[in-house]
Amino acid sequence: MSPASDPATTSTPPRPGVSDSYFRNIFDAVKSVAIGMRVTLKYCFSKSVTIHYPYERLAFSPRYRGIHEFEADKCIACDQCAKACPVDCIYIDKSAPRKIDKATGKATGGELLRYAIDYQKCMFCALCTEPCPTVCIHMGKNHDLSSYSRQDMVVDFAQLDKEGLRTPLPLWAKKENGIEWVAKERQRILAGELATPEADIPAV
Ligand code: SF4
Ligand code: SF4
Repeated sequence: MSPASDPATTSTPPRPGVSDSYFRNIFDAVKSVAIGMRVTLKYCFSKSVTIHYPYERLAFSPRYRGIHEFEADKCIACDQCAKACPVDCIYIDKSAPRKIDKATGKATGGELLRYAIDYQKCMFCALCTEPCPTVCIHMGKNHDLSSYSRQDMVVDFAQLDKEGLRTPLPLWAKKENGIEWVAKERQRILAGELATPEADIPAV
């Protein structure tokens, strides 16, 4: 008989009894539930970091960059914004050259046939607003452009201008829901007013 198989020389650790492992499992289960509940209770009594949107709304930070607002009557279709766009998501078409009439401050000449931005690609960098010679393209304050189709994500601001709008009316603002700020925002957009340039909270 080899030394390894000799029961006198091999030492096997004693196996815990069935009742030992049974009570240890119960102890471990209770302990892990207690640890989980401690974390849960800690968050129950700490300050909330979320809000009940849309009933509550966060204030916009300084230089917030939301969905564009566009003054089609000042656009001379010079393509400067489209050239500055790093993702090529601005599409402009005109029937003939346009220029600003100094007396009225409005663009005259050909018709602005298309001024579309593809929000599937836009990254809200605001680079398009920098070179605009007539300051007619602005970053707005709305951030929600949810839609039912990809086509709806391509917004033609020249078309919106025909409806008297400077920016698209978001889905959430289309229906009356009794929320005061939503009603005000709908009213502003339908009136063709630009968002106030000031931030809702002061710069630090
Ligand atoms: S915000 Fe940036 S990505 Fe969007 S259209 Fe303007 S330049 Fe292009
Ligand atoms: S840079 Fe300004 S004026 Fe020129 S096409 Fe763009 S929005 Fe219109």
